[in-house]
Amino acid sequence: MYDLLILGAGPAGLTAGIYGARGGLKTVIVERKSFGGQASITPEIENFPGIANIDGFTLTFNMQEQAKALGVTFVYDEVESVVLEGAEKSVTTKNNGEIKAKTLIIACGAESTKLGVDNEIDLIGKGVSYCATCDGRFFKNKPVAVVGGGNTAVEDALYLSNFASEVYLIHRRDSLRASKILQDKLFSSNVKILWNSIVEKLEGNPLEKIVVKNTKTAECASIDANCLFVAIGQTPASAQFLDKLKSENGYILADENMQTNIAGVYVAGDIRKTPLRQIITACADGAIAADSALKYLM
Ligand SMILES: Cc1cc2nc3c(=O)[nH]c(=O)nc-3n(C[C@H](O)[C@H](O)[C@H](O)COP(=O)(O)OP(=O)(O)OC[C@H]3O[C@@H](n4cnc5c(N)ncnc54)[C@H](O)[C@@H]3O)c2cc1C
Repeated sequence: MYDLLILGAGPAGLTAGIYGARGGLKTVIVERKSFGGQASITPEIENFPGIANIDGFTLTFNMQEQAKALGVTFVYDEVESVVLEGAEKSVTTKNNGEIKAKTLIIACGAESTKLGVDNEIDLIGKGVSYCATCDGRFFKNKPVAVVGGGNTAVEDALYLSNFASEVYLIHRRDSLRASKILQDKLFSSNVKILWNSIVEKLEGNPLEKIVVKNTKTAECASIDANCLFVAIGQTPASAQFLDKLKSENGYILADENMQTNIAGVYVAGDIRKTPLRQIITACADGAIAADSALKYLM
């Protein structure tokens, strides 16, 4: 029986592990893939305070080593089912059986929705990004494009217009889903909107050009762009918990202590309903969640 069971070894889960173990809790982290989460595939991170530039693999490797040195147990396995209610929380894993604990932190993160064009995955970090806040600065005075039509896409385009030489917004329809206030800002900015358009092809490695197809005329045109920011949504890894935990659009709801609607069950990081999804905010959530678990057990 552990004191603290954490699901997910991304920045939120790893930080929760560090705080839990330092607080004297017998802690286990169950991760279904490998450590580091989304952050581990990020080639350059320039917004983690105190470290001017680091690759995500090294940053999260260091977090994992720190957690291990403090005595956190790591189990790499698929979680098949979870029991959240009651004094004893547990998960059943594919190869390691049942793991029980007195408290549980869900830090399973989220995944950006992929566009599905050829080369998209190969070009991540070389001209395809899912995070303008993270990668926008690398394209100062360079042409970039954003694909999408919701609030995130418009916010990204406006943000990028502060430093990119040219910003295109590629949208498959003839109107945007974004809020009116954002649309007003967009229409008075220098962002070029390509209506009724989809991304047909990505050219160059690193990216140099995007071939865009007009959905009405079927005509293709090539635009110069060194990065395509994909802003067509995110999917939180919350499916296993939604029948028990309160959520909004798949994101789990918690109070400022990361407490969910079930006693002893906490949530941290990108899987949570939160205004900003970054490494620093995931780490902060993980620290608060572990501290809450500690206080719950006192
Ligand atoms: C390409 C890219 C670049 C980015 N660049 C930056 C940047 O420069 N700066 C910045 O601050 N942020 C950046 N971000 C955002 C940042 O990576 C995320 O905000 C952060 O990783 C969220 O941490 P997390 O621990 O909440 O979730 P995640 O990183 O998503 O980790 C969740 C982990 O949980 C595991 N998991 C999921 N379901 C289960 C389950 N049922 N059981 C067990 N394990 C499970 C997953 O495999 C994963 O390892 C970037 C994101 C991307 C995609």
